[in-house]
Amino acid sequence: MKKISVIGSGTMGNGIAHVFAQHGFEVSLIDLKQDFLDKALATISKNLDRQVSKGLIIESEKTSALSNIQTFTGLSEGVKSADLVIEAATENMEVKLDLFRQLDQLCPAETILATNTSSISITKIASVTNRASQVIGMHFMNPVPVMKLVEVIRGYATSDEITKQIMTLSSNLSKDPVEVNDYPGFIANRILMPMINEAIYSLYEGVAGIQEIDTVMKLGMAHPMGPLQLADFIGLDVCLSILKVLHDGFGNPKYAPCPLLVNMVEAGFKGVKTGEGFYKYTKGSKDLVVSPRFSK
Ligand code: NAD
Repeated sequence: MKKISVIGSGTMGNGIAHVFAQHGFEVSLIDLKQDFLDKALATISKNLDRQVSKGLIIESEKTSALSNIQTFTGLSEGVKSADLVIEAATENMEVKLDLFRQLDQLCPAETILATNTSSISITKIASVTNRASQVIGMHFMNPVPVMKLVEVIRGYATSDEITKQIMTLSSNLSKDPVEVNDYPGFIANRILMPMINEAIYSLYEGVAGIQEIDTVMKLGMAHPMGPLQLADFIGLDVCLSILKVLHDGFGNPKYAPCPLLVNMVEAGFKGVKTGEGFYKYTKGSKDLVVSPRFSK
């Protein structure tokens, strides 16, 4: 595999493009507007600079990685000769199904189609193509250049051969791939989201405060970040939508999202991206300050 197309140049797409380009692949990065692509290139450049300053790569590797990336606003130009397409567009079922219908028409017959979805069924996405055996989940973690895990998700019809190729490719990117089957939440979110939900329930029921809950999990379980801070980092809307996928997919009340989480999302308090969730975030400050709404 030489040519990789990445669809969506947001948080995950720019990280995925960064890692492939750094490993010598020809990357086509695709988004809806040139503005988004320019912003992604600036982010990749800044993150490569950080790797240079830490002594992880040298300046010429940065230059070579950047020269491996081309940007496109049209899907057909960007994917027409891809060996592998990785879709990292917005987490929305209709957006993804529409993209995969188009990709199936636009890409050569042998192209592998992967998705970085956090929660949407790979089997469902594959079902809108005529190449379900070549559709697979490649779930990178945020921030992609730093995190070692790739959760490789086999849809119901994904072939052994394609799974093997994607496992090998992920190892060649210096990642540690783990193979899992396609059921709601896969492994990462099936285990993480109920923990976050339980932390929110503990707060909602007054068992302990925000700092106390996060401290127990940091100091007691050696988690680098407490579950409430992590929820803010992921985005409370994203947590809610994944919990809904688990709740709908398994029909088990144990996955029911905590009413406090639902209220916070409805009120627009979505965590770091909106400036306030369980904590309040001030630009330029790294202090972790509990939201005043919870300090009464
Ligand atoms: P994001 O909102 O930062 O970026 C999404 C990008 O996709 C945007 O730039 C948007 O313009 C673009 N886009 C939307 N529709 C498109 C289309 N039809 N064609 C081309 N580009 C299109 O989102 P993100 O956080 O990078 O998430 C992307 C995917 O990765 C989602 O499926 C998400 O569930 C998954 N994911 C996210 C994280 C995370 O921590 N953010 C972690 C793992 C997986």
